[in-house]
Amino acid sequence: MALVVQKYGGSSVSDVEAIRRVARRVVATRKAGNTVVVVVSAMGDTTDDLLDMADAISARPPAREMDILLSAGERISMALLAMAIGELGVPARAYTGAQAGVLTDSKYGRASIVGVIPERVARAIQMGAVAVVAGFQGINEVEDVTTLGRGGSDTTAVALAAALNADVCEIYTDVDGLFTADPRIVPTARRIEALSSEETLEMAANGAKILHLRAVEYARRFGVPLHVRSSFFAGLL
Ligand code: ASP
Ligand code: MG
Repeated sequence: MALVVQKYGGSSVSDVEAIRRVARRVVATRKAGNTVVVVVSAMGDTTDDLLDMADAISARPPAREMDILLSAGERISMALLAMAIGELGVPARAYTGAQAGVLTDSKYGRASIVGVIPERVARAIQMGAVAVVAGFQGINEVEDVTTLGRGGSDTTAVALAAALNADVCEIYTDVDGLFTADPRIVPTARRIEALSSEETLEMAANGAKILHLRAVEYARRFGVPLHVRSSFFAGLL
């Protein structure tokens, strides 16, 4: 039995039907005999919409309040996904970044993870539940909510996988397929099903925007086995 951390991006959870599809995939992974921890991004364009609203209200919104605002997106998707998993008969518990023990420095809007103490997540999975964690957010030393920079949910997933000593961290991408190069630029680009950690690191080092760079660095530092998977090939998605 493996401990699997799965991360789903914004377009994988863009509406209620998409959330139900992710729930089915999570339950299938579990039924195959794995323990599953899920990290989710905000639904669809939620983060952009929240940014637009803040911009409309203030030319210089305070960074602290900005992070409280932006962290709300992932809270919505984690709660709905936990409910959807529960509807399939599998117990699931949702946790904010703070509840999941994601500790960061105080650089609002681009905070770095300084440690992860995932006690509640560990307890939830020990009790047989799926833990669903809000990506992209943590808590600083004065207990304010922080966010990790755009695309930061990848980093949450890798950091959590490292802290839980997970067997694998699977990142489901928001795109229809993974290619060896940008198919619009390189006509001979091949579609691929999954990337190994080495390939991912190499592509990220070459500027491929597959993953949040911090996630790649974190995976390298802690030796987290990373699988980047296309939702297109995931069958259920
Ligand atoms: N929701 C955040 C963003 O759009 C984080 C993420 O998607 O990973 O940047
Ligand atoms: Mg997003």
